[in-house]
Amino acid sequence: MKAIRRFHVRTVLPEPLAPLGDLATNLRWSWHSRTRDLFRDIDPSRWEALAHDPVALLASLSTDELERLSHDEGFVSRVREAADGLHRYLESPQWFQEWSADGRGPSSIAYFSAEFGITSVLPQYSGGLGILAGDHLKSASDLGVPIVGIGLFYKTGYFSQSLSREGWQQETYPVLDPDDLPLSVVREADGTPAQIVLPLPEGRVLRAHIWKAQVGRVPLLLLDSDVDGNDDAARDLTNRLYGGGGDHRLQQEMLLGIGGVRALRIWSRLTGGPEPEVYHCNEGHAGFLGLERISELVTQHGLGFDDALEAVRAGTVFTTHTPVPAGIDRFGADQVRRFLGGEGALPGVPVERILPLGAEDYDGGAAGIFNMAVMGLRLAQRANGVSQLHGEVSRGMFDGLWPRFDDAEVPITSITNGVHSPTWVDRRVVELGQRYVGGERIRHGEGWEDATNVPVHEMWGVKRELREQLVADVRHRVRESWVTRGASAAELGWTDEILDPDVLTIGFARRVPTYKRLTLMLRDPARLRRLLLNPDRPVQLVIAGKAHPADDTGKKLIQQMVQFADDPKIRHRIAFLPNYDIAMAQQLYPGCDVWLNNPLRPFEACGTSGMKAALNGGLNLSILDGWWDEWFDGQNGWAIPTADGVEDPDRRDDLEAAALYELIENHVAALFYDRDDQGLPQRWMSMVMHTMSTLGPKVLATRMVRDYVTQLYAPAAEAARARSADDFAEARALAAYTELARRSFSHVNVDHVDSEGVGDSPQVGDRVRVKAYVSLGDLSPDDVEVQVVHGRASRTDELSEVQSIALSHAEAYDGSRHRFEGEVAIPRTGAFGYTVRILPKHPGLASPAELGLVVNA
Ligand SMILES: *Cc1c(COP(=O)(O)O)cnc(C)c1O
Repeated sequence: MKAIRRFHVRTVLPEPLAPLGDLATNLRWSWHSRTRDLFRDIDPSRWEALAHDPVALLASLSTDELERLSHDEGFVSRVREAADGLHRYLESPQWFQEWSADGRGPSSIAYFSAEFGITSVLPQYSGGLGILAGDHLKSASDLGVPIVGIGLFYKTGYFSQSLSREGWQQETYPVLDPDDLPLSVVREADGTPAQIVLPLPEGRVLRAHIWKAQVGRVPLLLLDSDVDGNDDAARDLTNRLYGGGGDHRLQQEMLLGIGGVRALRIWSRLTGGPEPEVYHCNEGHAGFLGLERISELVTQHGLGFDDALEAVRAGTVFTTHTPVPAGIDRFGADQVRRFLGGEGALPGVPVERILPLGAEDYDGGAAGIFNMAVMGLRLAQRANGVSQLHGEVSRGMFDGLWPRFDDAEVPITSITNGVHSPTWVDRRVVELGQRYVGGERIRHGEGWEDATNVPVHEMWGVKRELREQLVADVRHRVRESWVTRGASAAELGWTDEILDPDVLTIGFARRVPTYKRLTLMLRDPARLRRLLLNPDRPVQLVIAGKAHPADDTGKKLIQQMVQFADDPKIRHRIAFLPNYDIAMAQQLYPGCDVWLNNPLRPFEACGTSGMKAALNGGLNLSILDGWWDEWFDGQNGWAIPTADGVEDPDRRDDLEAAALYELIENHVAALFYDRDDQGLPQRWMSMVMHTMSTLGPKVLATRMVRDYVTQLYAPAAEAARARSADDFAEARALAAYTELARRSFSHVNVDHVDSEGVGDSPQVGDRVRVKAYVSLGDLSPDDVEVQVVHGRASRTDELSEVQSIALSHAEAYDGSRHRFEGEVAIPRTGAFGYTVRILPKHPGLASPAELGLVVNA
């Protein structure tokens, strides 16, 4: 039978238990184990059955049960204590309040992302990008950073993965009811749900409501188009994360970017909170946010498009997350014209001004394409990659936007990702830290530099328990998976015996795009089998990962892996676990001794799962890519040598796989099984303790968020304030300057350069006096910087390790001609060279390359 009408009956909590409501809806419980304990203790078996979901647990309680609990004095006083603790957490000043006591920090930051991975109870993520966004919000909350998250609410999340009998990935899309989730709808003062309206082509209209999740101190606003008044297509717009392509994706991104800004305005109006000064666009999906803000400035403040663009760029930060071209959203220019043309979607923003922002109008770009990352870079004055290596790769990848500059000067910096330790570190490890390092520090996710205080045998004992916990979880999951695959309980006795809590455990789990090379370990199956079955030094492997539903190549890789692991001769040493998610990850990282990562370098922008393993006393075994390239130090794990430069991909895989087997057999397993008289692997554990104490402090998301605040958000806020002051005077001035510079630079020239002061055999410290004679056309000497750029010169006169010195204006002659002068001290021995160049100069520019204009001698 089907119901003709459905109501959602909310649990009414008796007064003494009322604080449980906030404790369940504020997602801080997801990283606060004592709050989780409180819910678990209501009914431990139900807690397990409901997958550790506080909202579901409360909803499951009958009136009688609630009544009984409300008379349990011990429990009621724990509830009060937990509520007080949450209140203190939300109110007490933290790092940001101190750092920004003088007001230098932004009043508020809006953080836009297509996905957010906060907890498995709110499955709104597909992988690393979402988990990172979740960790960013949680750490911002811990640090007191005033941030608001903006995303979409996907009714079926990403998807849920299972396996067919043959090991083929099956997707299902369980529908999430927001009423069952830790969400509340944002309402107008009169109680009606707040609504965002976006005009679409052909007179259609897209409406959306706003769900709010509370992540500690941080509100996360999620837009949902499944509302009355929308046509079916509009209702379905937010049905899945990364589901549709083409128009569907474009409209999702319009809702995220344009609708997201409108949601923020509603939020500020209803809460009286400050409008954000900084807008952080986490990957290109939300890029349209910049256009909506331009539209606001044009229609509400009467700015011209270019003035508004300068005002918007100042306060925008763009983070690029992938060097894989398929990871970047590209639309057809005609598609963008169809959806954003006319006055409808973005009043005051003509589509002719939008299209050039996303155009790939550079060497190697495609005509007629609108590239969201390119627009992201053009709409943000500050941009970054997510590890040092990825910063470098991104500067090379996007150098077409700054064609006359060396890659090193491309204005994309890097901030290396981090992870939220209270979410990812197993409580047993936390408890050890609290005992030997100090309770408060470890609870706040810090203090790992003193991890070496923990006695080795205790840490080893905890690692054994964590392996045991993982083994139990794997047995359970493999059994469930085989039931789904059609096996009967009677044939599944073997699953009680798989894996061994004393065997070296290697983990590999991540999404399954090709570059991550899930099956590299299968290059030589016989060799892998020997490693697994080695009688003295066996290895066991736990593997997980989802392929994108449209990616049959990825699904084939999963199938190969599954079929390999299905072999009865080795299935006690290797397991593929379906449906990788946060809950699985929280068991997997702590339970592994070694975390394996073998991407094709340099396509892993950062990678964060290895960081989570390290914080749990795991050692990394990885290709030198992403964060590992930066922080591998020879003692915190192993680097799999890369066959960089080998063109044939098969041969490259062979070489790298061979190196991997060799490392596992002769180094990793050898060390793990090398025991002293007490049975302790002393050398292994010294690597573990070294990893925790040296990597621990670096891999934290609190470190990452502080870096964002000090290096990007605060300068962006300052620039945005300066640019909007006095009715946007600086924005207008910069727009006028930019226009003048663009027009005039073709008439700028270095006419002649003289140098004095060095004879035939110059020495270090000798000073060269440089005189540059330049023509500036319509520009004045104050509008430009004339620089000497010097460095090591190669045989072909290429400069490297360059430094630059600004020359001063000495005299004007012949109207638009000028002499600039200055001195360079020769800094080093060897081949030295210099050149002279002319750059735009304006106080509003954040980098000399920003306008892409330069004239070299
Ligand atoms: C950390 C994490 C990821 C990201 O891992 P990478 O190493 O960046 O690929 C993906 N999924 C889940 C569930 C995670 O916890």
